[in-house]
Amino acid sequence: MSATSSTSSQAAVGRIAALASTLVVDALPRLPLKTLFASINAARIRCSSDPGSTLVRNNANAELQTLLVSTPRDVLPDLITHIPALQHSSVVIHVAVTNDDLVDALALRLHVPFVLYSSTSQQAHDQALLASRLSRLEKKAVVHIFHPTFDENEHIIEIEADKVLPFIRAEQHHPITSNGHANGTNGHANSVNGLTNGVNGHHLDMAHGLASLAPANPKDNHLLFDAYESVSLDTLALVRRALRPITYTGPSNPSTLLVILGQAVIDGKCLAPLQDVGALSITLLSPLAIPKLLARIPLSVNRIIVLEQISSWPTKYTPLFLDIVSAVQHREPRPNVISGSLGPVVDAKGITTTDVQKLLLKAVPQSKSLHLGSSFSIPQRAPATVEIPSHETAYTKILSMLFGDRLVIENAPDRIPVYGEIATRPEFALSRVQVELEERDELVRAVQAFLQDEKRTSSYPDLSSLLTKWILAKDDSTQSNSLTEQILPLLSDDESTLHHIHTLRRHFSHSSRWIIGSDAWSYDLGASGLHHLIASGTNVNLLLLDTTPYTLRESSPNARNKKDAGLYAMNHGDVFVASVAVYSSYGQVLQAFVEAEKFNGPSVILAYLPYEFPLATEPAGALQVLKETKLAVDAGYWPLYRWDPSKERLGQEPFSLDSEVIKAELEAFLDRQNHLSQLVRNAPEMASEVVGSLGQNLKEARRKKAQESYAALLNSLDGPPLHVLYASDGGAAEKLAKRLGARGKTRGLAVRVQTFDSFPFADLANEPYIAFVTSTAGQGEPPQNGRDTFKAINAAISKGDKVLTGLKYSVFGLGDSHYWPRPEDKHYYNRPGKDLDAKLALLGAERFADLGLGDDQEADGPQTGYKTWEPLVWKALGVDNVEILEAEPEAITNEHIKIASNFLRGTIAEGLLDTSTGALAPTDGQITKFHGIYEQDDRDIREERKEQGLEPAYGFMIRVRMPGGVCTPAQWLAIDRIAEERGNSTFKLTTRQTFQFHGVIKRHLKPSIQAINRALLDTIAACGDVNRNVLCSSMPALKNVHTEMYTFAKTLSERLMPRTTAYHEIWLDKKMVAGDAVKDFEPMYGPYYLPRKFKIAVACPPHNDVDVFANDVGFIAIADKDEQHLLGFNVTAGGGMGVTHSNKKTYPRLGDVFGFVTVEQAYIIAESILTTQRDNGNRQDRKNARLKYTIDRMGLDVFKAEVERRAGFKFQSARPFTFDSNVDYFGWHKGTGDKHHFTVFIENGRVQDEPGKDFKTGLREIAKVHKGTFRLTCNQHLIIADIPEKEIPRIKELLKKYKLDNLDFSGLRLSSSACVAFPTCGLAMAESERYLPVLIDKVERICEEYGLRNDSIVMRMTGCPNGCARPYVAEVAFVGKSPGVYVMLLGGGYYGQRLNKIYRESVTGHEILEILRPMIKRYALERLEGERFGDFTIRAGYIAPTTSGKEWYDRAGGEGEYHIDTA
Ligand code: SF4
Repeated sequence: MSATSSTSSQAAVGRIAALASTLVVDALPRLPLKTLFASINAARIRCSSDPGSTLVRNNANAELQTLLVSTPRDVLPDLITHIPALQHSSVVIHVAVTNDDLVDALALRLHVPFVLYSSTSQQAHDQALLASRLSRLEKKAVVHIFHPTFDENEHIIEIEADKVLPFIRAEQHHPITSNGHANGTNGHANSVNGLTNGVNGHHLDMAHGLASLAPANPKDNHLLFDAYESVSLDTLALVRRALRPITYTGPSNPSTLLVILGQAVIDGKCLAPLQDVGALSITLLSPLAIPKLLARIPLSVNRIIVLEQISSWPTKYTPLFLDIVSAVQHREPRPNVISGSLGPVVDAKGITTTDVQKLLLKAVPQSKSLHLGSSFSIPQRAPATVEIPSHETAYTKILSMLFGDRLVIENAPDRIPVYGEIATRPEFALSRVQVELEERDELVRAVQAFLQDEKRTSSYPDLSSLLTKWILAKDDSTQSNSLTEQILPLLSDDESTLHHIHTLRRHFSHSSRWIIGSDAWSYDLGASGLHHLIASGTNVNLLLLDTTPYTLRESSPNARNKKDAGLYAMNHGDVFVASVAVYSSYGQVLQAFVEAEKFNGPSVILAYLPYEFPLATEPAGALQVLKETKLAVDAGYWPLYRWDPSKERLGQEPFSLDSEVIKAELEAFLDRQNHLSQLVRNAPEMASEVVGSLGQNLKEARRKKAQESYAALLNSLDGPPLHVLYASDGGAAEKLAKRLGARGKTRGLAVRVQTFDSFPFADLANEPYIAFVTSTAGQGEPPQNGRDTFKAINAAISKGDKVLTGLKYSVFGLGDSHYWPRPEDKHYYNRPGKDLDAKLALLGAERFADLGLGDDQEADGPQTGYKTWEPLVWKALGVDNVEILEAEPEAITNEHIKIASNFLRGTIAEGLLDTSTGALAPTDGQITKFHGIYEQDDRDIREERKEQGLEPAYGFMIRVRMPGGVCTPAQWLAIDRIAEERGNSTFKLTTRQTFQFHGVIKRHLKPSIQAINRALLDTIAACGDVNRNVLCSSMPALKNVHTEMYTFAKTLSERLMPRTTAYHEIWLDKKMVAGDAVKDFEPMYGPYYLPRKFKIAVACPPHNDVDVFANDVGFIAIADKDEQHLLGFNVTAGGGMGVTHSNKKTYPRLGDVFGFVTVEQAYIIAESILTTQRDNGNRQDRKNARLKYTIDRMGLDVFKAEVERRAGFKFQSARPFTFDSNVDYFGWHKGTGDKHHFTVFIENGRVQDEPGKDFKTGLREIAKVHKGTFRLTCNQHLIIADIPEKEIPRIKELLKKYKLDNLDFSGLRLSSSACVAFPTCGLAMAESERYLPVLIDKVERICEEYGLRNDSIVMRMTGCPNGCARPYVAEVAFVGKSPGVYVMLLGGGYYGQRLNKIYRESVTGHEILEILRPMIKRYALERLEGERFGDFTIRAGYIAPTTSGKEWYDRAGGEGEYHIDTA
């Protein structure tokens, strides 16, 4: 079939709709208007005056539905209510802009994921195709706005009919690649389409003065944008015409930029004489690629004029204008952004250079009525004829737009001439509404009486027929108003019944009645007025405006009252309540207004518009209003929500939260609602009354019954209510508090457990019994989630008020009496608990049980103190003698989580879909570790966000599994891109020889994992209680034997992988990684997996760069005498680094050498050790669960014998081996054959670009040309390996260019390493990666002073005692204890052969230097030939050697004169 052509855009669009869709709905306009699409001839077209409902009804069965809209204003109000049900469906809405004014169509922009705009007929055809495919593939609503044309000479090239459906249904041709781009592998890089896949995805066609923008890397909306881009390329391939989201026209360095949304063509010819003016035309309105848009606004631009083809907009600022304002807000200097309108095209001349020149002359920052092009000829619908105070017209104009001439503002100022000032009082208006509604009821009764009289109806058959229809449709605004227009001419008052109807005729139409209350109106609504309105049940809508800026909220009591009005109304029951903010979500305002109007009863809408800046001399600017609104909404001060109790009757959730954060009051309200729902579930006999009743009496009965039942529920409990509040950082206090709560419940108490700060301080006095449980943080400070409460207590004390009289309390504190060893610091021990106990008494509270203190140093840890305290609580509450019939609920542990996870599934898949939070469920957070993912949050801004009422800035760490740390250049490039597009732009080379991404937000998780797998890497078992990434020495890459070792490490890693298919299901949509078949059966691990993490390393003497003894299992390679082939391994077992500060049951340990095995036996031995640990490891206490403790508990010989029994053979005697270092060798090395290697120094493994150090870029450039491999070292550095001889010059050139060849560092720096710690690691107690380089700067100077610049000293730092950077085998190490404070350790072996020991329990940066200076000096002066620093500190008497893990604490604190007691 050949291509066809159409003569109108509506015909072309309608044709595509008919060909592509399962169902086409043509929205019928109000009479006498006709649909534009009447000529479309297709069986699947259905006409509807309620198109939204039609689409929703057919949604389940339709592959693709299309709605054709000729008059958006008529359809908009109804459509908005149905959009939530449609926005994630395959629905295309083609909106024809009949009157040239985009205002109505653009109102949909904020409701649907995709909005396309076509300015020409050809574009309308092409985008209709694109929209249909996009919607079908993505299962998302797409709005396509276009202009209908009526030109017979129009010639639109159309696609053949038989190609449409195959195109719509074809599988994705341009899958999103790992860099997020739809890559043009099929020949799109050509001049035909004008889109060139250049280096950065842009093509600047300077010959034509045009730059087309193909978006790349947009972080926001990137997934939607990627999907759009992919489908646009598919469309391009079909129609051979480019569809660009944004098109730039003009010079490369303009000073003025016109942003165009409309039909007007402002081309290069028009702009050429102006020289410094450019224009951006927008065709993809949602998702608007703001970051890319910003990137395409040249830095030379100092003025932006946003021109939109709209006659007027309800709010002062249009959404597009605000998008541009916020996009450029951080640019320095910030361009002026000016808003203007663009007239429709009315003649062939179009926009001329002179028109633009005139516009530019008028365009100054305060410009009003800036306009380009012809005038709008369309008659504007008269807005509500009211004088509304200035800025508040934002809301009243929306009302006018939505409800048109049905809108009645009952207290509008235009009534003052008739009724006087009182007319604007909401109370007065309410009375008027009630009178009007009564009169309408009277009209209904009169009409019914008329219709029941056969004599009269037969006399007036036409009128009777219309009145019958009206009775049925009187509450439907569209139908009743249409009928009214037909009824009124037929009415006469010459007949008694008709006369009565005639006198009431103004009530035939269905009005939308609104009352407005605000500070700026004559009168605000008082509390009694609100109560009156709500209690009356009148069907009227109350719009309450709040103009108080967020930053001035404290000084305005009114604001608080407004917010309370919403809660008050919700508590009352049958009232529709919404809280909206026009400059936060315009779409939500529309939705709330439409729903309020539909609600049959009182509606209260709280509307935010921060304008009242008392000291401002001029009206608030757009940015100021935007910022205040954003602050208010993001902080939860002004949450956006809708509460529609009518939904309950339909079995739907009445509450919709439209913003992210709500504050405690609203949460409490919803909690109460949950209680009611709970009651209904527990007492089904109530359900019909509670849910199904409609009558007023029944509703009353419902409330009463629910309250009675709830009270009865509480009263049925034996004991008094007990509130347990806890403050906890590490989880110990939380666990204890929850345990107390659980035990309280078994004693019949009504118990609630929550954090200090989630409970309002003001409500403490209302609680009869509160048990406080708090741990100790930092330097005796309260934990994070208790600090606000402590502040409030201190504030109350400073006022001298006894505000807590009536409260009975008891406090239990957790601390560590040895954490602060210096006598002057002893008072930090359990300080929050002790302070709280004393201060509550000062505030008049009465202690019901004495302060309890738990000490980590006790035999049972804090349990020792707790066991004494808890009975006091039960005694005081009179439940100490209660017989406990139920078993105490068992605390949920990781073991429960693992077994309940169904082979590592948990509810991760569901959690990924939950957009209400950036986090996953806590239990899923444990399971994702097995998938290589840790949930973290940005701790730098945790407090700040908390103060703003926001949840932490959650981001995830993703760790790749990459045995031996070897990857290809292509994989390096993929990792680089993933970090750029999904993470925080940097990535880390870790101490376990792999890549780590940080700051990956939840919605980027799945695409990131998929991108990693596309690069033929994965993240399976990179963390979790399984065998983790297997390490392999990097440096011996020079030897043949290393190849065999690496093969062993890789094979072993794969043999010990979990076999669950969960990973593939959740992250890869069941696709298998590189063809590996996996089953839901764990032959190695079983359903519980291991008790704890399990680490393996393979070392190649004499290099111990993997720190083989620090691993659970180590394989020390033994080569044949020519060092050509691997004979086997000496096996070590029982190493491990993790410790808990001051918990002497925990200690670091080095692996013991078990003996020699062959390579084949080594696999069996690894499995045997793993399963022995699986079956014998401690699953009760995770702190004591590592293999090292299992071996010490079982005894080395018993453990070894069990391993041999499982393996079926015995270890041979260990073979001799020698290690000489565990650091890396930097610079060039010649390998075997033609291969060369260069080791790059990457400080602490962080790959990033910094000023003057573009390492990330440099390595990317190297990866683009490198022909060998990359090898990550366990010291977090990088070997560019296997460089062929002839490639050396090119690599050298790049190394030099990016300063990657700089190795001019001190021996100390080259031998150092640090873990990540702040800001991402949730366990960090102190800085590490960010602080060690600073510390080294200083220590380095000391070394230089004493001539030790080139001496290697292994110095390591970690942010907590978990020991990720293996600090316990360093010669000198620092382990974070609290911000700025570290445990200092000395005496480790230079090549990882000996543990170090605690030298000082707590040192600051200053103290570190004071300690090290004399020590380094002595080392320089007194060291023996070749003596290492760690050995020297022992020989010189600073520290005792550590001979085994169990003796690690012995003689800690230094020797002799250097000793400080740490006990
Ligand atoms: S050592 Fe502690 S702070 Fe550092 S990365 Fe590991 S867990 Fe985090």
